[in-house]
Amino acid sequence: MATGRFVVQEHHARKLHYDFRLEMGGILKSWAIPKGPSMNPKDKRLAVMVEDHPVEYIDFEGEIPPGHYGAGKVFIWDKGEYTLVEGDDPLKELEKGKLVFRLNGKKLKGEFALIKMKGKDNSWLLIKKKDEFAQK
Ligand code: MN
Repeated sequence: MATGRFVVQEHHARKLHYDFRLEMGGILKSWAIPKGPSMNPKDKRLAVMVEDHPVEYIDFEGEIPPGHYGAGKVFIWDKGEYTLVEGDDPLKELEKGKLVFRLNGKKLKGEFALIKMKGKDNSWLLIKKKDEFAQK
């Protein structure tokens, strides 16, 4: 079963957003989520795929200096492990436009899906699946 680490970094850039990153293939696949992840299956959270980050970035907290891209403070909002629920190669699942996985973090737990929006280059939706961890 494919597993890896994940992190959610609360990023106080010009606009507050949450960077959701999944470790796979030696890099961090990354999405910027304006409203942040939700534990409510009714919330479909826009997740814009952004550039891959090096795995070392998974522990980053601190301040990106003024004048640099994404300038502002970064806090680790949650971190832990993820396990693939469908398929066995997360990169292949991403290519198909759908990643189903289970998170084991402090705030984020249980099953989620990242689903690519049709006809959009980088827009995905992060959706909590109904399970014992789901909240209203
Ligand atoms: Mn960011």
